[in-house]
Amino acid sequence: MDRLATHLVMGIDLGTSNSAVSLWLDGKSVLIPNLQGNVLTPSVVGLDDEGQIIVGQAAHERLQSHPNITKASFKRYMGTDATITLGKLVFRAEEVSALLLRQLKDDVEAWLGYAVKDAIITVPAYFNDVQRRAVKTAGQLAGLNVVRLLNEPTAASLAFGLLENKEHKYLTFDLGGGTFDVSIIDMFEGVIEVCASSGDVRLGGDDFREVIYQWMLKKYPELHKDQFLIRPELLKLAEHLKLALSQAPECYVSMHWNESDFEWKMTEQELATCCQPLLARLQQPILQALHDSRFSLNDLDDILLVGGATRMPLVRQTVARLFGRFPRHDLNPDEAVALGAGVQAGMVMADCALDDIVLTDVMPFSLGVDTTKQHGERFEFGYYLPIIERNNFLPISKMQELSTIVDNQEHILLKVYQGEARLVKDNVFLGELKIDIPPRPAGEVTIEVRFTYTVDGLLEVECHYQGSPKVYRLLIEKVPGQMSEAQISASLAKIAGLKQHPRDMPENRELLARCSQLYEFLLGDDRLWVDKITTEFEIALNSQDLRLIATFRQQVVQFLKRYERDLH
Ligand code: ADP
Ligand code: MG
Repeated sequence: MDRLATHLVMGIDLGTSNSAVSLWLDGKSVLIPNLQGNVLTPSVVGLDDEGQIIVGQAAHERLQSHPNITKASFKRYMGTDATITLGKLVFRAEEVSALLLRQLKDDVEAWLGYAVKDAIITVPAYFNDVQRRAVKTAGQLAGLNVVRLLNEPTAASLAFGLLENKEHKYLTFDLGGGTFDVSIIDMFEGVIEVCASSGDVRLGGDDFREVIYQWMLKKYPELHKDQFLIRPELLKLAEHLKLALSQAPECYVSMHWNESDFEWKMTEQELATCCQPLLARLQQPILQALHDSRFSLNDLDDILLVGGATRMPLVRQTVARLFGRFPRHDLNPDEAVALGAGVQAGMVMADCALDDIVLTDVMPFSLGVDTTKQHGERFEFGYYLPIIERNNFLPISKMQELSTIVDNQEHILLKVYQGEARLVKDNVFLGELKIDIPPRPAGEVTIEVRFTYTVDGLLEVECHYQGSPKVYRLLIEKVPGQMSEAQISASLAKIAGLKQHPRDMPENRELLARCSQLYEFLLGDDRLWVDKITTEFEIALNSQDLRLIATFRQQVVQFLKRYERDLH
């Protein structure tokens, strides 16, 4: 067992909405169920009423009802300094992701009955170096040894078994919960190259749920005034309608509110009408990716459907129409990435991992400066003026002229930011330069600002006013979004100190794992006994009453000792 334990590598799909883990067992990739028996674990982390960390389904159920202490979609913030709060606790995206990864690791260990440490984690193809490093850090914080990162579309292609073909060009169409990713991949001689990736970071299954929610509200205008109170409940119903309409042509849901009953019957046709604007948004990223890769539709050997939202017949029809052929959907789309990670894990274990060439030498974000706008007599501060825009190839250098807006200004304070938002306050501040200028009427002094960004992620800002030889320079080396070694150590201590649900405490998990192993081993009445005592222990754990738990733990320990002694 020990020998196996040191050899097993987990393949983890760390998704925006759902995560999943697989292992390479008996020559194939197998998805490992969590403690609830599901292969998908919602990527949601929260606090329960006692302030203990909860992860996955339990947290997901409280997402709408306890938004201040429950967080989802934190993958969006990987590689940034954004903070994620759970009540009074403040985290970085790496830390919350680590809590999720730790849960996935624990669940796999409970299933296996022993510890595993090595993992392959998938990342979107467009993740830049800082974001990739953040995923590795999250793994480290969760006690994992991240042996490598794998691009999600590459993982999908492994799951679909495309590696057997020598040469292959294909497109992955990945519509998840909150993001839409299109990648075009060229595979030749065992090398997989992501030629182009495009997408929409604000389009996914959640948006389809939202349009259904809006349709539901429209049906009963009297609900409008209470919409914030009933939103959690209505969203659940909307999600139900969405999932059911993937199976059946129509579906009913109902709700009791303010002593009245509300009923909705939605048909495929109504769903199609509501979703039309969203479906229309699927085309542009495909065209963009094709354009960037310089491939035509006919060059593609396959279209792979990935992501839970591609289970919607409407999405499949749209894809078939856009491509003029049927996409491959012979795998569960929301499991494909994790399954592929498991295939890669198998290859790592057999020491034949493939080279996964990734193009990361494009600008991952825009860089710009703070500017002021003048509207008549009024000045409006804090507008972002991008100088280098994202997705340019590196290295890159760009120049911009700026003028004074106030009479007799004696200096210009140039504030440099990273990000995409219209207002600088929503972007990341990088540094500033103060440039002395001769006092003149507004608009008469012009400065030239040059931004140079290198492949190593260094930004050099040069600035001088026209007519002066003096050049002001600012060098920004540390791109925000990266954790230092000291920060990582502090985070490790912080995560270790968080209160866990008693069910997730190592000593209790170990006992539960022993119980389930014993259950598998025994037969007949003995099995029933194990089942009974396990259930009692689980009830005690769920009560979170520490004294009760201690009592039951004693009983379980005694019980296990007796049986295990008989077994040896
Ligand atoms: P991510 O990759 O973003 O973590 P997933 O690939 O797991 O997410 O996709 C999650 C999305 O898929 C959710 O919006 C969910 O509602 C949607 N989804 C899952 N199953 C179905 C289904 N049967 N019909 C329609 N949508 C579905
Ligand atoms: Mg995904």
